[in-house]
Amino acid sequence: MRRANAARYRVLGVCIRRCRYPIDGRASMSHTADASADDFVNPVSPIGPDSPPAGGPGALALVGCTVVDGAGSPPLRQGVIVVEAGRITALGPAGSVRIPDAARILRCDGQTALPGLIDSHTHIDRDVPAVLGVLLKDGVTSVGNTGCGPDMVPQLHRAGAHPAAARVFTSGPALTAPGGYPGTRGDGTVARGVTSATEAEAAVDELVALGADFIKLAQEPFDFNFRSPGHLPVLGPGPVAAAARRAKAHGLPVRSHVHNVTQLDIALDAGVTSVEHMLFPLPPEADYHELYRDGALGTAALPDLCRRLHRMVESGVYLVPTIGNELINIRDGLPDFPEDGLRAIEELMVTVLSQYLEAGGRVALGSDWVGRPGVPAGMPRQELRYLLAAGMTPLQVVEASTRNAALLCGQGRTLGVLEPGRCADLIVVDGDPLRPDAALDGIRARTVVKDGQLVSLTDAGSPAPLRHPVPADPPR
Ligand SMILES: [Zn+2]
Repeated sequence: MRRANAARYRVLGVCIRRCRYPIDGRASMSHTADASADDFVNPVSPIGPDSPPAGGPGALALVGCTVVDGAGSPPLRQGVIVVEAGRITALGPAGSVRIPDAARILRCDGQTALPGLIDSHTHIDRDVPAVLGVLLKDGVTSVGNTGCGPDMVPQLHRAGAHPAAARVFTSGPALTAPGGYPGTRGDGTVARGVTSATEAEAAVDELVALGADFIKLAQEPFDFNFRSPGHLPVLGPGPVAAAARRAKAHGLPVRSHVHNVTQLDIALDAGVTSVEHMLFPLPPEADYHELYRDGALGTAALPDLCRRLHRMVESGVYLVPTIGNELINIRDGLPDFPEDGLRAIEELMVTVLSQYLEAGGRVALGSDWVGRPGVPAGMPRQELRYLLAAGMTPLQVVEASTRNAALLCGQGRTLGVLEPGRCADLIVVDGDPLRPDAALDGIRARTVVKDGQLVSLTDAGSPAPLRHPVPADPPR
């Protein structure tokens, strides 16, 4: 049962408005609504299910912890997790699991084991080894890179394979219309323009050959220059549908950058796996100063919102809200916009997420981290806070941050859930992070295991020091 978390949304100053669209009971958080999505397995993944285990031979047993498996199961008290050769080989209540004689025993009494968190939407492409090192030590064992130049794909995979780095899964260049977003950024290699369904299919094939873990579509007519919004070209329904079809034929998730409701309809018609970012009005269709003056920064600014949210739920799509970064984009783009206007936009985004959840919608964690000054790399705690504020229970937030995020990275069978056979990427935290007053958004990993190996949380470990990243063009 989902309801807005009163204590938290008071902190944010958010007032949740209910969706008046009739809830028909068909929608639910159940995984079965989109069972095929569980099957996303990247055939060229660096950690495909048939790939050899990457971890060393030493067995490790975590004993006495509460186990939260990431799949939404009730917590297992006094659990034991056995890890061998990089994989989880056994998991169950103490006394029911045989611990290999040579295993290193790690007592975790009073602590909770979770899958390593996965930030499924980032733009890590500078200071990569150092950033990945910081993330891993903070309990983020994998990230998704949602758009990079083709040359970066093998580089990111290599960097993420380092024992002291979080794993990286990436789309490579995002598919867009020629001259469309995000090709306006940097040297333009982060985007791949296509003009037709045939070209879109060919581009997907190329990306798969390049090693893409999922396909990213950019359906964005806005160039994030709030002073002069412009109208960038966008893909038509034909190429979007063709790209989605082809991606699924390859077994890859297809994730679409969408803010506006017209583009949302095209994405849902195409059957995308996820909608990235939050639905809220962006220029060129919206003028924030005008909406603010008219007191119209609310859900009424999004036509037919409830019907569209229910359509998202019925189609089994995942939403990756990235609310924190949306607000930074607006604050940076409109430095003279009044603070109460920003609060109204924040409230609007949390309200939309809350209504989507209440209708039965599924969420995956993604921060849209891009390395801005003042936004250090690490566990995306602010985004976790927004998920809680919108009414998700801590257990649901864990599922969004592990199982669901793994699925969107093309790792629906390998990562994100603690169960025998999966890669042993997990974290152990103090106490019970699922307690309503335990502040899941404040958790700190006391133990991190990647590929079955204990990660040192104290020594430098990372191959390079973290320079303060100063991106040339942050919003993406
Ligand atoms: Zn992004």
